[in-house]
Amino acid sequence: MLETYSGGCACGAVRYEVMVPPMFVHCCHCTECQRLTGSAFVMNALIETAHIQIKSGDLTPISVPTHSGGPHDIYHCSSCQTALWSDYGRKPALRYLRVGTLDEPSRMPPDVHIFTRSKLPWVNLSNEAAVFDVYYHQETLWPAENYARRRAVETA
Ligand SMILES: [Zn+2]
Ligand SMILES: [Zn+2]
Repeated sequence: MLETYSGGCACGAVRYEVMVPPMFVHCCHCTECQRLTGSAFVMNALIETAHIQIKSGDLTPISVPTHSGGPHDIYHCSSCQTALWSDYGRKPALRYLRVGTLDEPSRMPPDVHIFTRSKLPWVNLSNEAAVFDVYYHQETLWPAENYARRRAVETA
């Protein structure tokens, strides 16, 4: 079964396709993600860089400051500056794709809510995803097959 997901930026210059289901999908309610998105949370799908095919357009990485001090580069459309995905920690083989840039964002629902200690009070979470005050243990929560994919990316 081949699942394909398509997406792109606001101006249409950047179009991409994802050839696999995401390894895991984070809904992050931390104050940093709130500020960077200007919203209540960010939706990040963890996907191997190799499985994101850029069909058109140019991306520009922008480094942003982090509370942790670790690197965080956000890749934007070079024309309209829509943020398409992040590289946390300068891991060239791993991308955190912004689910809202998909043509059908509903196809990548969250697997976990993290940093809910700073969740805005009017955001009500369903019971379909695990909820954590801060972070969680990936090996425990992820399907084994997806965790193996993550490990492979880590050593790439
Ligand atoms: Zn654009
Ligand atoms: Zn966050």
